Amino acid sequence: QNVVNKIAAGEIIVAPVHALKELLENAVDASSTSLEILVKDGGLKLLQITDNGHGINRGDLSILCERFTTSKLKAFEDLSSIGTYGFRGEALASISHIAHLTVTTKTKDSNCAWRAHYNDGKLVPSKPGQSADPKATAGRQGTQITVEDLFYNVPTRRRSFRSTSEEYAKVLDIVGRYAVHCSGVAFSCKKHGDSTAGITTPANATTIDRIRLIHGSPVANELVELSVQDEAYGFKAQGFASNSNYHVKRTTLLLFINNRAVESSSIKKAVEQTYSTFLPKGGHPFLYLSLNIEPSRVDVNVHPTKREVNFLHEDEIIERICDEIRVRLAGVDR
Ligand code: ADP
Ligand code: MG
Repeated sequence: QNVVNKIAAGEIIVAPVHALKELLENAVDASSTSLEILVKDGGLKLLQITDNGHGINRGDLSILCERFTTSKLKAFEDLSSIGTYGFRGEALASISHIAHLTVTTKTKDSNCAWRAHYNDGKLVPSKPGQSADPKATAGRQGTQITVEDLFYNVPTRRRSFRSTSEEYAKVLDIVGRYAVHCSGVAFSCKKHGDSTAGITTPANATTIDRIRLIHGSPVANELVELSVQDEAYGFKAQGFASNSNYHVKRTTLLLFINNRAVESSSIKKAVEQTYSTFLPKGGHPFLYLSLNIEPSRVDVNVHPTKREVNFLHEDEIIERICDEIRVRLAGVDR
């Protein structure tokens, strides 16, 4: 059974960044306003994320890493109207099958924090011979999740990583996306032993300041705000797009659909096509786009490693967004 679980987990979590994305979304779901991330060896040795969210009840810790344990899905109907990021209840379970997982958490009502260790979906003792029960410890409200030795029991996967800096770059990329998107949340992401953070954004930074901190002033100074909605198609899109004074060799598209970082090759293609009519040849744009679509129209049940999302009226919605870009950035009349 553990072998099956291990294989399934290895398909959900293919690289450290997939584990980190799940942990990041959990922390945001828990209404955190501060997220600190620590990474060692590209996340293969250590991924640690400390939040100040609502915490996990002591009583829920024993089943936390069982598959389909989730506090986010109350009834089957919720599936079509899900507002939070996660609903599958598989992330922590999966991670516990391919790494050593430690959870330290404190809710507002608890007078101490609790620390629990997990392997293969179950509570385990921190040292052989000790009790596996969560232990009381000091701590502040919130949750700290520590993932150590990812893929320790999947040596072929472990060997498949070419460089830890490549894996760290993927981690920084996803943290950077959420750091732009989540206004009101402070982010920091550091390599272990490195005094300078790869990413730091204060909680009160505006979206443009967040983009400036992560992507630099040359692009932040050339951004135009976008806003477009259409009730007929049940969507609202907001964001910032670079103008014709700015272009680079590769498109940067920070895309969020219903507050989840996703990929959409069709949106990317359409945006590139639109910009190609007014940018110099070979020049590409920067675009941060937050798209909110009626949840019943979005297929959010995507595989964590396949971040492509499908939604209804895709062509029409993309056309409306590209129109907005043309009007706001290329001076085309509506
Ligand atoms: P899902 O997010 O799909 O519910 P996960 O396996 O990612 O499933 O998490 C399982 C449950 O653990 C969540 O539903 C939530 O109740 C709890 N949880 C996980 N991370 C946190 C966190 N950082 N703060 C508070 N609760 C958390
Ligand atoms: Mg989750």
